[in-house]
Amino acid sequence: MPQPTSSSHAGCAHAHPVHARATPAQAGERNTRQRTAIRAAMAAEGRPLSPPEVLQAAQKLVPRIGIATVYRNIKAMVEAGELVAVPLPGDRVYYELADKAVHHHHHFRCNQCEKVFDIHGCDDTFATLLPPGFVLTTHDVTLYGLCAACSAAARVRPGKKR
Ligand SMILES: [Zn+2]
Ligand SMILES: [Zn+2]
Repeated sequence: MPQPTSSSHAGCAHAHPVHARATPAQAGERNTRQRTAIRAAMAAEGRPLSPPEVLQAAQKLVPRIGIATVYRNIKAMVEAGELVAVPLPGDRVYYELADKAVHHHHHFRCNQCEKVFDIHGCDDTFATLLPPGFVLTTHDVTLYGLCAACSAAARVRPGKKR
């Protein structure tokens, strides 16, 4: 027989032992610290990051931060307009700081290490590709290839495919 749940905190006491110790103020402080670390980590990396990459970068600042915390903060930061998702077709989602995203730019995705980099500048000659009478309103371009580190590694080991 399914029973209506009377409290959303059912089962919470043992699942989150930290609740028993941390006061709301302490928990709030911890959230702020985690959020600040994620923001600082993303600014330091200077490129769009996938959630696992955010975790790796944030752990340099807050060693005990976990992937669930990273996902929770990313969601909150997107809702707050601090982060934006970088839409790469058929790929995992990457995120970048909103203040970067306001400037028109494109992305480069390394086929080998799967890192995504900002490309500064834009080829604004797309309109010349259009047939007569067509009007260009926007464009969406992603570049793919090998980043500097991966192309250097490929030159060192010329036998390696991919
Ligand atoms: Zn690479
Ligand atoms: Zn452009």
